[in-house]
Amino acid sequence: MIDLKPLHSFGLSAMADSISEIRDESLLSRLPVFDTPFIILGEGTNMVFVEDFSGSILNILTKGVEIKEQENQFLISVKAGENWHCLVESLLDKGIYGLENMALIPGSVGAAPVQNIGAYGIEFKDMCHSVTTFDIKRKTWQTYTREECCFGYRDSIFKSHEKQFEVITEVALLLPKTWNPNLNYRGLDTLPLGCAAKDVFNRVVEIRQQKLPDPKKIGNAGSFFKNPIISFEKFKSLQEIFPDMPFFNAENEDGKIQNAIKIKVPAAWLIEQCGFKGKHFDGIGCHQNQPLVLVNKGSGSGVSLLTFAREIRSAVLQRFGIQLENEVRLIGRNGVISL
Ligand SMILES: Cc1cc2nc3c(=O)[nH]c(=O)nc-3n(C[C@H](O)[C@H](O)[C@H](O)COP(=O)(O)OP(=O)(O)OC[C@H]3O[C@@H](n4cnc5c(N)ncnc54)[C@H](O)[C@@H]3O)c2cc1C
Repeated sequence: MIDLKPLHSFGLSAMADSISEIRDESLLSRLPVFDTPFIILGEGTNMVFVEDFSGSILNILTKGVEIKEQENQFLISVKAGENWHCLVESLLDKGIYGLENMALIPGSVGAAPVQNIGAYGIEFKDMCHSVTTFDIKRKTWQTYTREECCFGYRDSIFKSHEKQFEVITEVALLLPKTWNPNLNYRGLDTLPLGCAAKDVFNRVVEIRQQKLPDPKKIGNAGSFFKNPIISFEKFKSLQEIFPDMPFFNAENEDGKIQNAIKIKVPAAWLIEQCGFKGKHFDGIGCHQNQPLVLVNKGSGSGVSLLTFAREIRSAVLQRFGIQLENEVRLIGRNGVISL
């Protein structure tokens, strides 16, 4: 049996039947066809094992970065087991810019396309050239173009049930040589226009360290819920009752609200309004600085996490008529479960 506690950042106690560490891609084609539940694990920062997992885990640990210089851009191919933040930092040190707004997002490069990671106005899809996978059931390789990945807000084709046997082995990123800083996001807008990419990187790291709990110190999986996206009509009716409700244009966070069809509302605000900020229940807490982050105070269990998260979700539904969706992947005995 394998102890999963150190393998996921929320740090709940759970066990698994077996784990295979993949340090060499060629091993993938030699894996047996799994007849038990099966999941792919990166660094476990977006997954919570809420009970023992009775199946097999593939932990992707392949390493390697290849940089090809083209006329106006760099094409960077990265193996799935590289750490995302280390990649951002090492490219910056080489004078290759464009990822700095996504500094300090925990986890592996291979998981980045799965939920189309994003922060401070930039998403993985903005730099994605292609994603290569190996289907361990069919034993086939496939390379997806950016369009074929069907990226959305914290979403991609790789989250679908049909892709559950596809291991992302490599991603390719395109980073233009001409760097245009994206300083529109709150916190970065005070940087001078002529600032360097390193300044943006440092600022992002500074803000994130202030706002988000460090999973090495207190178990968490980042934002537990997605920011809900609602229709413009629903937003207008809510705004009459809650005039202070913050909002963004869901299609373009810098865009004008008048042209928006869909509106994104910060889940953190909704949760705070329902009185959960700083509250805790049976070893699980709602973080004091960022109520969107649920934390494991050390003694939390899968049952207490699910109970608390459901309580938050139903309070938000009751007060605002908005159904929160979990961003983290909850893993039960047989695989992904819904909240
Ligand atoms: C403190 C904190 C802050 C965070 N901030 C952000 C943020 O700002 N923005 C953001 O978008 N996310 C954020 N996250 C979430 C997390 O960092 C990302 O989702 C990250 O991409 C997860 O990487 P991982 O390697 O830990 O993936 P895991 O948790 O191991 O896996 C996540 C999902 O990807 C799948 N997966 C992993 N590797 C592969 C692979 N090689 N092939 C196929 N599928 C795979 C898994 O099966 C699972 O479904 C945060 C998390 C924490 C703890």
